[in-house]
Amino acid sequence: MKNSNSKYVLVAGGAGFLGSHLCDALLSEGAHVIALDNFQTGRKQNLRHLEREPRFDILDGDIIKPLSARLRSRRLKIDEVFNLACAASPPHYQADPEHTMLTSVVGTHNLLTFAESVHARFFLASTSEIYGDPEVHPQTESYWGNVNPTGPRACYDEGKRAAETLTFDFDRARRADVRVARIFNTYGPRMRADDGRVVSNVICQALSGEDITIYGDGSQTRSFCYVSDLVEGFMRLMAYEGPFPGAVNLGNPVELTVGNLAERVLAMTGSSSRVVKRPLPVDDPRRRRPDITLAKKLLGWSPRTSLDAGLKSTIAWFSEDRADDGRPHKV
Ligand code: NAD
Ligand code: UDP
Repeated sequence: MKNSNSKYVLVAGGAGFLGSHLCDALLSEGAHVIALDNFQTGRKQNLRHLEREPRFDILDGDIIKPLSARLRSRRLKIDEVFNLACAASPPHYQADPEHTMLTSVVGTHNLLTFAESVHARFFLASTSEIYGDPEVHPQTESYWGNVNPTGPRACYDEGKRAAETLTFDFDRARRADVRVARIFNTYGPRMRADDGRVVSNVICQALSGEDITIYGDGSQTRSFCYVSDLVEGFMRLMAYEGPFPGAVNLGNPVELTVGNLAERVLAMTGSSSRVVKRPLPVDDPRRRRPDITLAKKLLGWSPRTSLDAGLKSTIAWFSEDRADDGRPHKV
């Protein structure tokens, strides 16, 4: 691997929530970065602060379409390819399930063959969703999961499972040097107000005085990781020089119920929003918590940001008055 200060990195999904933070982290280490994005859920304003950065470029494109010719025509040697391209929020990835599945399968294949052709290291942003509604708790990387292959979440869960299969097959055939992160629920600044995931929903609802929507009875659990901790895990996993370690869980093992999360946000914002119950979505996992023993051992990584500190900075970010993206103003 090259030193960060001379390497060229392609970040597919670079205009999204996680992708834009990854671009920042790579640039701060001296890398040259190209973000490739179709702007389905990503936003140009996530990258606006990089407009004058000479080591940064944005390509508008869909990873489902062939891409190596266009990238090769730029006469750049790419050292690393990060595949973060895929809508991650249930309402967004279910809006066009066929595109979601093709993004994970055809898109990942396109990026893998591109990485193979330029001898770049490849990183797949996989997900805890590959464990489905888990029967093993906390979830270790050796657990195969409990996924409904035909339900409304399958376009995402099964798509990511197939993306992992492709990535592992490229490793077995020695066609690419690969890394796979299984990401657990992550939150922080630059989530969209209309993202639909629980942290952004609850914060925006609390700030604008709207009802807080809890799906089901709120007893289902999740474990929330702050974005800077996760990106640090990405960087360490990509820089790992040993043999392919298989998939690695990255997430914060502190588990809480969705009801508890809402109570914490209500207390931190001082909001008088009411909590209202809504139907639990089909196949919504009952509980989720990462076992991060492998990440600790392999990468010396564990999250450092407490939930209260992470929520505080996320609430502050959503409270800022930005006229351009329709976020709520603090009540
Ligand atoms: P996001 O929706 O903010 O970002 C996804 C980005 O990919 C967007 O910029 C979108 O426009 C782009 N994109 C989608 N389909 C594309 C395509 N076919 N071609 C090109 N660009 C495309 O979501 P995020 O939270 O930043 O998630 C990033 C990655 O991390 C995703 O692959 C997601 O599955 C994975 N992940 C995220 C979480 C989380 O909690 N945020 C958890 C598990 C896994
Ligand atoms: N959820 C909720 N209210 C919301 C949005 C989500 O109660 O406004 C629930 C959702 O049903 C799930 C949990 O919060 O049980 C986490 O949902 P999210 O979409 O954030 O992540 P995922 O389900 O993909 O883990």
